[in-house]
Amino acid sequence: MSCALPATRYQDFSRQIFEKRVSQGKPVTAQVELTYGCNLHCVHCYTDCYNRPDLIKQRELPTGEIIRILNELYEEGILWVCFTGGEIFVRKDFMEIYGHAKQKGFLITLYTNGTLFTEKIVDFLKENPPFSIEISCHGATEETFDKVTQVKGSFKRFLKGLELLQSRKLSFKLKSSAMTINCHEFAALKKFIESFGCKFKMDSYIYPRLNGDLEPARYRLSPDEIAKIEGDEATGDSFCLSKNSAVPRLGPPANDDLFRCGCGKTGVHINAWGQLGTCTWVYEARSDLKQKPVREAINEVFPKIRAMKYQSDSPCRTCQVHHFCDKMPSTFRLEAGDPEKPLRHFCDTAVARAEQTLQQKVPHPYGIRD
Ligand code: SF4
Ligand code: SF4
Repeated sequence: MSCALPATRYQDFSRQIFEKRVSQGKPVTAQVELTYGCNLHCVHCYTDCYNRPDLIKQRELPTGEIIRILNELYEEGILWVCFTGGEIFVRKDFMEIYGHAKQKGFLITLYTNGTLFTEKIVDFLKENPPFSIEISCHGATEETFDKVTQVKGSFKRFLKGLELLQSRKLSFKLKSSAMTINCHEFAALKKFIESFGCKFKMDSYIYPRLNGDLEPARYRLSPDEIAKIEGDEATGDSFCLSKNSAVPRLGPPANDDLFRCGCGKTGVHINAWGQLGTCTWVYEARSDLKQKPVREAINEVFPKIRAMKYQSDSPCRTCQVHHFCDKMPSTFRLEAGDPEKPLRHFCDTAVARAEQTLQQKVPHPYGIRD
């Protein structure tokens, strides 16, 4: 982190800004997908379906449009900007876009696969440091890493990238997704990540691709495997237990909101085609920034997302284990055909997690688990 404030003061500062902006009903963060292009093809990647030269050429935003959008985000009071992809460094104009964002004063996070760092890029970042650099790490060995990325030599390039960052004393975070391909080496992965002075951090959710392709779901761990690794003494505290609660507990949802996360409150998401929404996954409402300014798009999309309520008698509506569940209505729409419906894998995972955490039997949302 390159923020000048000590960590505790930074936390106070960011909490105050978030509270103020939430009370005003205004977003404060923006995630900007600069491209769906990427030099890798990870088996679990949700954007790989749009990593096609024709789509990139026809649909992605030119430099000037991204600069215009950054200016409008600034006018809207956005403070934190995260650039992501695809892979951000496949864009030849990355430095121009980044340099503009720096000049506006945003606190910038970069999500990258780490394989495209060059001397020129790290020198540039050293001169213009980001707030944070977060790099995906898919395995502790060349065999596993390249199997996940489906590109031979990617692990070597990833290591070279980390070396370059270290040579300029640029700090970074490493993060992983738990899946069938790397689950045999979590202990080694933890050691490997910690050897760079990073905290081991893993997610266990794998979602469909943005076009509805369910192929990535093949790489999910089973619900019992997820609960087991999350409860493991050696690696368990590295997992985000669920996105819905900091202190998971039993009990029904407080209301009928379809989106029980922060969607439509603090953050905007802008995809590589210039469509503004509330998060990476949510396509229940989007607005096209090629046609509209950011302010108009936010005013159109945010109230729609916040107003969405459950209409059916879905078990999710009264679910006692929802705090343990990774449900995202939009990916459930892709997978189950309906954002309100439950999905067996997620229900079983929520129950297994609840039982693991609370050390007691808990009822299955629709009574199908033993
Ligand atoms: S590096 Fe990221 S964007 Fe590229 S294929 Fe892998 S998951 Fe997708
Ligand atoms: S998907 Fe299952 S566990 Fe998750 S909220 Fe719905 S019923 Fe509950």
